[in-house]
Amino acid sequence: MNVGTEQQQQVAGTGNGVQRCTVVVVIDPGHGDTHDESTIIDPGAVGGGLNESDVVLEISKLLKSKLAAKTDLIESAHLTREGNVDNPSQPKLLWRQQVAVAKKCDVFVSLHMNSFSSASANGKEVFYNHKSSNKAESAKLAAALYAEYKLPIAGREPPIKTSGLSVLATYKWKSSKLGIWRDATIFQSVKAAALFELGFISNDGDRKAVIDNKDNIAGWLCDGVCSYVSANRAILCV
Ligand SMILES: [Zn+2]
Repeated sequence: MNVGTEQQQQVAGTGNGVQRCTVVVVIDPGHGDTHDESTIIDPGAVGGGLNESDVVLEISKLLKSKLAAKTDLIESAHLTREGNVDNPSQPKLLWRQQVAVAKKCDVFVSLHMNSFSSASANGKEVFYNHKSSNKAESAKLAAALYAEYKLPIAGREPPIKTSGLSVLATYKWKSSKLGIWRDATIFQSVKAAALFELGFISNDGDRKAVIDNKDNIAGWLCDGVCSYVSANRAILCV
């Protein structure tokens, strides 16, 4: 977040009491890392010969450049990973939050694709963490992303969902697999965080729609972030 000087506000034409403010966005392409004791890169869900980790990385890169062009709203955009990450410096998921905090992230968006045993399951989904300290802002961000996402996939429109998703957590939680407590309180500095599932990689229609619309998807997600930022400057500029 960067609140401009009065001079900058006048240059930007946003003076006269309107605060100029731009925010830092961190995009998190899901998976594509090793975690815990494993040495195997996590591909996420796999469908039709595609890895979720690769699809979301490509779209995240497109989203980053679109956000970076929105200089009236966005100070900078970053990715938690630019490729696969072998041996991250922190345990599973925590390293992503560490990257976000290091970049002084205001808005955090994690991108994923869903998978289900039934190939007919389809549609978008968006989550925020209802236990997190930033839940009120995160709910607004999730709603803005959801509203702008216009992928032409069959009519399933689930409500915005809440979950204790670890990557969006701002508190200590216990890993069910390892029985270890993990501390994500550092992530409290992030003002809004949401996780977006672009569609089901296990569904032929969704997969094709996502692959055929990568640039459009990045554009819709960019619109969602910008719509949230634009409507909530008073909070983001504190
Ligand atoms: Zn995923």
